[in-house]
Amino acid sequence: MGLMMQMTPSHDLSFDAVVVGAGIAGLTVALSLPSTLSIAIVSRSFTMTSSHWAKGGMAAARGADDDPAEHLYDTIAAGGALNDPERVALLVNEAPNAIEFLQHQGVAFETQPEREAGHGRPRIWHADGDATGAAIMSALGTRLRATRNVTLIDGTMVELINDDNGVIGIMIGHQNALTLLRSPRIVLASGGATGLWGDHTSPNANLGIGIVSAYRVGAIATDLEFTQFHPTAIALSESPLSLATEALRGAGAWIVDEEGKRFLFASDPAGELATRDKVARAMYRHGGQAYLDARPIGREALEKRFPTFVREARQQGHDPMAAGPVPIRPAAHYTIGGVVTDSWGESNIPGLYAIGECASSGVHGANRLASNSLLEGVVFGRRAARHLVDTPNPVSPTHFPRSTNLPTTAPSRITLARIVDDALGIERNAVAIERALEALTDVTTCEMDPFSAHELIQASQLVSMMLIAARERHGTIGAHTRADEQVEDPHYRLTFAMGSAPRREARVW
Ligand SMILES: Cc1cc2nc3c(=O)[nH]c(=O)nc-3n(C[C@H](O)[C@H](O)[C@H](O)COP(=O)(O)OP(=O)(O)OC[C@H]3O[C@@H](n4cnc5c(N)ncnc54)[C@H](O)[C@@H]3O)c2cc1C
Repeated sequence: MGLMMQMTPSHDLSFDAVVVGAGIAGLTVALSLPSTLSIAIVSRSFTMTSSHWAKGGMAAARGADDDPAEHLYDTIAAGGALNDPERVALLVNEAPNAIEFLQHQGVAFETQPEREAGHGRPRIWHADGDATGAAIMSALGTRLRATRNVTLIDGTMVELINDDNGVIGIMIGHQNALTLLRSPRIVLASGGATGLWGDHTSPNANLGIGIVSAYRVGAIATDLEFTQFHPTAIALSESPLSLATEALRGAGAWIVDEEGKRFLFASDPAGELATRDKVARAMYRHGGQAYLDARPIGREALEKRFPTFVREARQQGHDPMAAGPVPIRPAAHYTIGGVVTDSWGESNIPGLYAIGECASSGVHGANRLASNSLLEGVVFGRRAARHLVDTPNPVSPTHFPRSTNLPTTAPSRITLARIVDDALGIERNAVAIERALEALTDVTTCEMDPFSAHELIQASQLVSMMLIAARERHGTIGAHTRADEQVEDPHYRLTFAMGSAPRREARVW
């Protein structure tokens, strides 16, 4: 590591709770806490989050001919049975209430659910057609602006601070200066790490900093080898790539190759309706680049049901009806692993919670079932808020750091993305993983501002954890495909526990 710069916080603020991240998980927590508490939401962005971009919808078994037990079955089948069944039960049983909670916040869900690959029944609830995430976030944002107890801070998490009793605060970068936020309750809702890949569908801010920051203060992280790739990212721009929602395939769209031939049936009898990992793998093996032909859906139905897809493709110069099949390729889409939490979303560090995509709550196993992640953010966000209120504050901390040292050099994002793409793509092998680990130890760095450098050093640490997890999991399961190992993968978990001993028992199922 190169030169370090010592920085002293120029602001010092105190809150009852600090939430890091303004996606569905962060806003659900903030809106579920009593208005008597002072809350800060710190976020790199309040408008560009994966939650805003979610299209497919939110799963909940609340139709007359559906049952949470079937939702549980589908979730565990998708997850390769590496899920924690008790946590899945919580998720699916609380799903109908989660929809009601959002309705209460002003979200107008459509009256009938739709079916999606991996779900045995129609149970995906949409709002505003294929712009469900935007509709949810708009309603939650309106509610948030009406509150008086929540302060919004445009900032970036630098580090968590803890003492022997648990978490005590967080240092953030805010307007190029350091700010100390004191609080005995920190909720990480900072999203996933898919921005580390060259091709990704999430905002560029998603570098997994919440996960690695928690790990650096002793939290346990797990399942870091599991990253979900979405097969139908529109390959007409630089990352973040727009997503052609899975529901298009459900509605009749085809995936074809350069010659216009459908090729998915060769690997799975479900063809386009196979789960996203299978479709992504088949596309990768067929050469990566493919095309989505939405014309079988018909112009009227396409424009009515998928206005976002039509608009985004047109904005990128390609009309899906007039110009025909839209170029697509698989892209990193969802981070399955993260900070291990209990059923209330709390980590092994008292007062430190992780909710949503940055968490490993146990619901996704080795592969997330589509439309379960918006749901996870709401279900566990509400649970965390309840727990946080019911748990007495620990002893007041006495000692806070006066300054922190930040680096001024780090590997560039492009360098990191090359390493990640090479070793942590759809198919992995030991040689590429070892090569990537070696590359990380001797990586070229460049000078940059201390906040960016610190972030990229943290991101490099997370990449090395992901590489180790991918190396240690020899077989193929869920979203992790090892091309060099033929063994069936046994159901074991790989956890990363660091430094100081865990403060309390963390249950790793
Ligand atoms: C294109 C797309 C479509 C999707 N469609 C669906 C769908 O239809 N159904 C479904 O269930 N799921 C879908 N997903 C997944 C789902 O949207 C996400 O998993 C979910 O929204 C994550 O919510 P979150 O609140 O945990 O994190 P995010 O919504 O990712 O929010 C993370 C927040 O943390 C902030 N942040 C990040 N790093 C830092 C930092 N270092 N310091 C401060 N703030 C930080 C970000 O700015 C952001 O505000 C989709 C994802 C994408 C990308």
